[in-house]
Formats: sequence, C-alpha cells, structure tokens
Amino acid sequence: MASIRRTLSPYSDRSYQNGANTPFSPQSPSQKLFSQGRTTFSPLRRFVAGVFFRKHQTRKNFQLSWKKSHLRCFVCFFLGFMLGMAPFNSDFSEFRQEDFRKSDFSFEMKPEVVSVQKSAGDLASAENLKENDLLVGAVELGVVEKIDKTDMKKVLDFVPGKQLIVVSPTYSRAIQAYYLNRLGQVLRLVKRPVLWIVVEMNEASVETAEILRNMGIIHRHLVCVKSNTDVKDRGVHQRNTALEHIERHRLDGLVYFADDDNIYSLELFENMRDISRFGTWPVGMLAQSKNKAILEGPVCNGSQVIGWHTNEKSKRLRRFHVDMSGFAFNSSILWDPKIWHRPTSNPIRQLDTVKEGFQETTFIEQIVENESQMEGIPLGCNRIMNWHLHLEARGLAYPKGWVLPKNLDVVMPSK
Ligand code: UDP
Ligand code: MN
Repeated sequence: MASIRRTLSPYSDRSYQNGANTPFSPQSPSQKLFSQGRTTFSPLRRFVAGVFFRKHQTRKNFQLSWKKSHLRCFVCFFLGFMLGMAPFNSDFSEFRQEDFRKSDFSFEMKPEVVSVQKSAGDLASAENLKENDLLVGAVELGVVEKIDKTDMKKVLDFVPGKQLIVVSPTYSRAIQAYYLNRLGQVLRLVKRPVLWIVVEMNEASVETAEILRNMGIIHRHLVCVKSNTDVKDRGVHQRNTALEHIERHRLDGLVYFADDDNIYSLELFENMRDISRFGTWPVGMLAQSKNKAILEGPVCNGSQVIGWHTNEKSKRLRRFHVDMSGFAFNSSILWDPKIWHRPTSNPIRQLDTVKEGFQETTFIEQIVENESQMEGIPLGCNRIMNWHLHLEARGLAYPKGWVLPKNLDVVMPSK
C-alpha cells in the first residue's frame, strides 16, 4: 500500500527535483495512466482525481460534504475489493494455486486405512497408470519376471496379498548385526507388501538405523522410552510400543512378532497371508538345558485347532500353548475391536506382570475367546516353518559401529 500511496500522491512530482526530468525518468504506471489520459481519458481522469486529489486542488473552497466522503469510502473499498479478487498475473499464478491447494479448506482427505486388497486392474483404471509403469511395478512385486506386454492379463488380475507387519524388538549385543541382517534378508525375499517395525529401548542406535536403511525394505525404527526400574522384560515393552504405533496409525495388515534371533522360512510368511483373524502354527524349539528338540503350538484338523503340543509340565496351566513366534493376527483387532466382536475395547498389550512362560497365552486371550476363533496354518499344521533357538552371547563385547579398531587375529600360513 505504501508504494500505491506514494505513486498516487500529487507530491510524487518531487522525483523531478533529483534532476530526473528526462525521457527515462522513473514514472510509475499510475503516473503514465494520468499523463496518457490527459486527452483521451480526461473524464475518467477528472473523476479519479476528483475523488483522490480534490482536497489539494480546491484548498481554498475546501468543503467536504458527507455524500462525497461516503463516495470516497465506497470507491476505495470497491478498488480494494477488486484488487483482492483480481487474478494474479501468470508468473505468480502457478505458485499461488500451489499455495492455495496446500491451505485449501476443501480437504481432499485420503482415508488413513488403505486397503491393499484392490486388484492391480482397479489401480490401473483408478490412477490411469500407463501399461509400462504397471509392468515395471509388477516386476518389482514379483508378479511377472520381466517387462513383457503379453503378461498384461496376469498383471491386471494380480491381487496383492495382505500386508505383513513384522515386529522385532532388538538390542545391542555382539551378534545383533548378524541377527538383523539375517532376518532382514529373509524379509526382502517375502512378497510385498511387508512392513518391518524394529523397536529399540530408549534410543535408536546408529548401527541398527544403518542396517535398516541398507536393507531396502519398508521399515519403521521405533524407540520404547521407559525407565529401567519399571521394566521386567524389555522385549514386552518394545512390542507394546509397536502395538501402540499400529493402533494409533491404524496400520492394516497381519501383525507378527518376529524376535531377531529366531530362524524363519519364506514359506511361513506366505502361509501367514491366509489368516483372517488369528492364525497359529507349531514352532520348533530346542528345550533349554536339555539337548532335545520340542514342538510348541497347535494340533489341527485341517485349519481347525483341536489341541496343543507342549512338553513342559510347569506350563500345563496355560490356556494356549503357543510360542511368541507361533501366531499372527489381524491388526484391525487393535484399532477396530467392534468388527471382531471383542467384548471390551481395552487396548491389547503384552503384560509385564505375568509369570515367565505366560506371556503369549495372556496376550492371545485378549484376541480370541477360544480355539474356534483360531486358524491353524498350513492345513493340518503339519510343517515346522520357524525355529525358536536359544543361542545367546550376552557376555560378548559389543564393538561400537561394528568396526574392529585392530586387525582381526589371523594365522599366517608358514611357508
Ligand atoms: N530383546 C530386547 N531387549 C532385551 C532383551 C531381548 O530387545 O533386553 C529382544 C531380543 O532382541 C529378541 C526378543 O527381545 O528379539 C526376545 O529376546 P530373547 O531372544 O533374549 O528371548 P528368548 O528367546 O529367550 O525368549
Ligand atoms: Mn530368542
């Protein structure tokens, strides 16, 4: 406004005092308008000048009637209004439109829950993907092996599986890098969509972040903040951090607790995709301190769970005999309990107050009422698809950044 006021002021003639009375003297557009209008637009000129400059031109007979001041107010208001409504010139229009789009009030809300069950055909028509883009995406997803237009039907008929949300608590120890790399490399081979949620206690370590970044799979690196005095089992709180995250963001998929140190087959992740509410399967274990392998998990008739494998007498009191790595469930139970007819809407969490060995059963009891709400996988539950071993090396020093400052010990062959 300051510049308008200056250029419209009759005292702007002062610029000539600076010796700028030349053909190239700076002249504002409004000055030009008035000088050009001297002949052709004189009525307009007189009108505008009358409105703005009358005071100075007729100082002697200065008498402002209330009608004129109303007219001035109205003209000023009208000009201001028109300026405000006028479209911006083309240089700025793109920028302004972009700006408006961001702060627009007609929100184009995308639903938070994105169903991945649409067929690729739906996606293609909805988003007008070009055939080639679609084929490139299909190769990435492993639907077809190479970009070949004859495979287009296969691509369009492809329905992506349910998202797998794999939750892994982890902590710094000597073989952490080995474990995370091993699990990450398996997950890389699993058909997408897979989301790996890795949770650490109190801070996100640089080393874990780097492994995740280099792994090339979709992941979230979360931190569980808890004072050590409240914590009996750290893994429990770390898994709960992931559950809170899934619930808050309404992540849609099948949740699976995959400890970093277990051994998993690709077959396990593919079979998991058949689960609707809660799926379970037998897990191979090495009985601690005994040198024998045992099974823990369901005995099935088809996909119906009819009993449980368990060898440990002390745990007979458990309702469900399932290992932490022996079940997966639909994430919507966490954030939409009504559709699953859950009697309460209390958050589903792992409990740090229960006796060792009761962690899994007390958690599962919050998701299902009995075996009839479970699905045994694969049909007949007759395969071991993952192993829970107890290979720990807690006592080993943890090299910072996994870099050894000195050379590794080597034995030089003698010549
Ligand atoms: N874990 C953790 N912090 C700990 C202890 C364990 O994050 O202080 C993680 C660990 O990396 C693993 C899971 O919790 O992913 C289970 O731990 P562990 O293998 O020691 O338990 P176990 O197999 O004996 O049940
Ligand atoms: Mn373990």
